Amino acid sequence: MRREELLDFADTVKGFMPRDEGLALHRAALEHEGTNATWLEVGAWCGKSAVYLGAAAQERGAVLYSLDHHHGSEENQAGWEHFDPTLVDPYDGRLNTLPTWQRTIADAQLEATVIGLIGPSTLIASHFDQPLELLFIDGGHGAQVAWADYHAWSPKVVAGGLMMIHDVFADPRDGGRPPYEIYLAALASGDFVESAQQGSLRVLTRN
Ligand code: SAH
Ligand code: MG
Repeated sequence: MRREELLDFADTVKGFMPRDEGLALHRAALEHEGTNATWLEVGAWCGKSAVYLGAAAQERGAVLYSLDHHHGSEENQAGWEHFDPTLVDPYDGRLNTLPTWQRTIADAQLEATVIGLIGPSTLIASHFDQPLELLFIDGGHGAQVAWADYHAWSPKVVAGGLMMIHDVFADPRDGGRPPYEIYLAALASGDFVESAQQGSLRVLTRN
């Protein structure tokens, strides 16, 4: 698919990313040199951000790992704000976004660019030695999970590489704290500088 078709398709995928933020995600990735590069997103859900990033990866010759255990975060479970009963697997009553994610990547014809990693984020990180040219953190937003993702994955980003964080809200009335806190920690560490922002998306570059 051409770039414009892919971006229009991404907009139709189930998820929690407004189009302007998806386009900013895509643009930041596209501006980044990517030949033979390894990119990774924490938090795949139904594949929406994977299409925005994957469209850039395909053009740049990078591979995007799209990581998720596919059973949803706390806020996706029954009784919570972001619950979608159509994503429950009748076999065991658990949320399962993997079939939808697979369909998304297949429909986008990105199966040779976007590779699923299925399992718990920090366990995978502890067995993953590949340096990352691009990291997108959009997994669990609880304090423990968000900090664990930050500590596990941010050290793998190479100098000059990008670390993007989603759902960063400076005002607590707009959303939860942990993504904002890890964003502040990344800046305070002196290892990252901010290169762009759009809505709740922050784009940082490693020094
Ligand atoms: N980036 C996606 C949205 C991700 S939603 C998009 O924009 O389309 C957050 C995802 O993080 C959920 O699918 C949930 O299953 C996953 N997640 C939460 N905690 C996780 C963990 N510890 N390991 C792996 N995946 C996790
Ligand atoms: Mg998000």
